[in-house]
Amino acid sequence: MKFNKFNTDSLMNITSRPDLVFINGKGSWLQDNLGKWYLDFIQGWAVNSLGHCPPEIEKALISQSKKLINPSPAFYNLPAIELASRLVRTSCFDRVFFANSGAEANEGAIKLARKWGKINRRGAYKIITMTKSFHGRTLATMAASDKISLEKIFSPKVDGFIKGEINNLDSIVELIDSDTVAIMIEPIQGEAGVIPANKEFMQNLRKISNKYNLLLIVDEIQTGMARTGTMFAYEQSDIIPDIMTLGKGIGGGVPLAALLAREEICVFEQGDQGGTYNGNPLCTAVGIAIFDVLNTLSFMSSIKDRGNQLSKGLMNLSKKWNLQGERGTGLLRALILNSNDNALKIVEIARNIEPEGLLLNAPNKHSIRFMPALNIQEHIISLMLEKLDYAIKQSRNS
Ligand SMILES: *Cc1c(COP(=O)(O)O)cnc(C)c1O
Repeated sequence: MKFNKFNTDSLMNITSRPDLVFINGKGSWLQDNLGKWYLDFIQGWAVNSLGHCPPEIEKALISQSKKLINPSPAFYNLPAIELASRLVRTSCFDRVFFANSGAEANEGAIKLARKWGKINRRGAYKIITMTKSFHGRTLATMAASDKISLEKIFSPKVDGFIKGEINNLDSIVELIDSDTVAIMIEPIQGEAGVIPANKEFMQNLRKISNKYNLLLIVDEIQTGMARTGTMFAYEQSDIIPDIMTLGKGIGGGVPLAALLAREEICVFEQGDQGGTYNGNPLCTAVGIAIFDVLNTLSFMSSIKDRGNQLSKGLMNLSKKWNLQGERGTGLLRALILNSNDNALKIVEIARNIEPEGLLLNAPNKHSIRFMPALNIQEHIISLMLEKLDYAIKQSRNS
């Protein structure tokens, strides 16, 4: 494809992209190659916790890159130790393994559960995951996810994943047999269109995990690191999971992810798990800078305030345009459209607004997802709601 002076043919064509190249980012704003600015409610896919190019990341990258970038995972480094101890202090988990992507952290969780099953459950290996779930794009995490189309293209698929229905306990219980080792769930299914697992369901998953001696794995790659107004979403269900994965917001934009587990689950022995870049000081130093901003009461309460503002604003739009309401927690939310509305069309109209566009994500044809920077200001949310109102109006007129 050619547009302006760019020829994109040397990149693999893995997704549909608009004819734009983004050059600059600052806070909630992105600028394209022609100089147009866009209000960004995608934020690297819920990744940029503090917005684009925050001074905290610049500072951490510059100072760490002058000291040490990668001594190899065969040696300890300070930022990895310090970030791990912060994560352990603020969660119910005891140990951390750092990874470079969410899918890789989930692969680690699956390996850890299988090893635990080998030792403690006579080789039990099956993991129950949920319908509409998303856990990544590697072979195993694809099998854990509920994307049937992908499984067919890349068959044979990795064995050992079965799907129950979210918020339907019976559908889970009836799948459990002597080979079942774990239940794996996103507290809120982001890619499915922001579908929350309810508190009762989460608590019941904990109960049946105890009853059948299964591990409860929470995939908090999208919901973790303050996105939903608490450091981790599982806290809101008052449960203690066995394993948790983090990604996206933990690095604030740099590639960083983590696998966490409680002490008695940490059965990896030397040689079972690793990776060249895992726990490198450059990315974990950024993780510390991000963590220290998020982990304050005032920051957490501002996420809740902005989440409430966004929720109210979306409800107002829903009433005005006769839509199906909104859902989500904190700053992970979705507006639910009618079956005759086309979310993709609204996304395109919003992007093309002049002089300043609006970047939104449609996880499916009938919902629009909002995952702004966690330090977003009140007036920026108001501005987004105005632009969204206009985009919905235009989509109804055309
Ligand atoms: C994004 C995401 C993943 C995959 O993370 P990558 O960094 O893209 O590999 C896994 N699980 C959930 C819930 C996610 O939102």
